[in-house]
Amino acid sequence: MKTYEPIIGMEIHVELKTRSKMFCSCSADWFGKKPNTHTCPVCLGLPGALPVPNKIAIEWSIKLGLALNCKIPSFSKFDRKNYFYPDLPKGYQISQYDQPFAINGNLKKVGIRRVHLEEDTGKLIHQGDSTLIDFNRSGVPLVEIVTEPDIHSSEDAKAFLQELHRIIRYLDISDADMEKGSMRLEPNISVGTGEVPDYKVEVKNINSFNFVKKAIDYEIARHKEILEKGQVPVQETRGWDEKKAITYSQRLKEKAHDYRYFPEPDIPPLIFKEKEIKRAKDQLPKLPGDKRRELKELGLKDDDIEIIIDDIATLNFFEQALNVVRLSGNREISAQEIANWLVNKKINIDKQNPKDLIMAIIAKKQNSQISSDIVSKAIDKVISANQKAIDDYNGGKTGVIMFLVGQVMGATKGKGDAQEIRKLLEKKLTYG
Ligand SMILES: [Zn+2]
Repeated sequence: MKTYEPIIGMEIHVELKTRSKMFCSCSADWFGKKPNTHTCPVCLGLPGALPVPNKIAIEWSIKLGLALNCKIPSFSKFDRKNYFYPDLPKGYQISQYDQPFAINGNLKKVGIRRVHLEEDTGKLIHQGDSTLIDFNRSGVPLVEIVTEPDIHSSEDAKAFLQELHRIIRYLDISDADMEKGSMRLEPNISVGTGEVPDYKVEVKNINSFNFVKKAIDYEIARHKEILEKGQVPVQETRGWDEKKAITYSQRLKEKAHDYRYFPEPDIPPLIFKEKEIKRAKDQLPKLPGDKRRELKELGLKDDDIEIIIDDIATLNFFEQALNVVRLSGNREISAQEIANWLVNKKINIDKQNPKDLIMAIIAKKQNSQISSDIVSKAIDKVISANQKAIDDYNGGKTGVIMFLVGQVMGATKGKGDAQEIRKLLEKKLTYG
């Protein structure tokens, strides 16, 4: 029997949330805005318009590269990627070809081949028989992350993407909102049978982690079936149909030279000094991996850690709540207790603030202390007032316990839990 090994790489596009676009001063905040209101001669690709690179977008790309443990070469440049498509008014996209900003990194044992910066295209809107073009998105800074084909299962692909998503959110460089298309996922898949496969299939523009997982599983099964017949799957680009949960053929894959890349003549190359790169590295915020370690040291359960670090707003809330406890000198509330409330009680962090949560925990603790005092007094009272029932119980008529539980419930006006009271009563009657 043949063994099949899935070989998966990822390409991920992320729109940066800079104020202005990549090469002009138009607002990059395009989503949901009136079509073609965020445009100028540069992002409309009018003849003679000159691009001016966005410094923040470049800094953020390098930040992302550093967060992915990449090397930042001292020399970098932009290139023109030539192709025709109606959403690309210039007839070329300014991108980076052989000298990207960041190379040779890694994340979760997956090699990061490169991180480069380019510009987004316009958006086609299909209405009945006609197609409209909105250029508000044209020229929005777009980072592309390319991994090595180091992933071997759809689960690992999903876990890798989720960690990448967290890192981007922690760096605060993009909303990485997949529903708005500000993070787009493209797996490329082949299945090896002992030797390196000489084809790969790319699935374009997927907008959820679960869909990536499903698309990969679908492709692996499809390739195996073809390989089983002694054939080789066609090298191509496929789309993902989320309703039918299948991929479908779109076009045969272009080779890089089809784009006739050449250096962008209107933008001089970029040179980075060693100390600039070092400073950028020193200024990186704490990343999910760092936070995972910190919460582990606080003694939190692994599952809770994953839930808390998954969303930076939840993490911030947790850390602020912990800080409230530390500043108040309260030693009775543990980090795990805060985590329990946050994770299990589904606290709405948009509506509550960390201080309120701590007050609620303290109040709950005091209440349960008070009610346990009340219950314990009531038990003593019921025992001394019902000698006959006690004798019956001790004589083996254990059913009488429910009568005593009822008496305690009555005396406490419903405070305390019947099961709990029963346990306390039995303990008391057995051990005194
Ligand atoms: Zn513009």
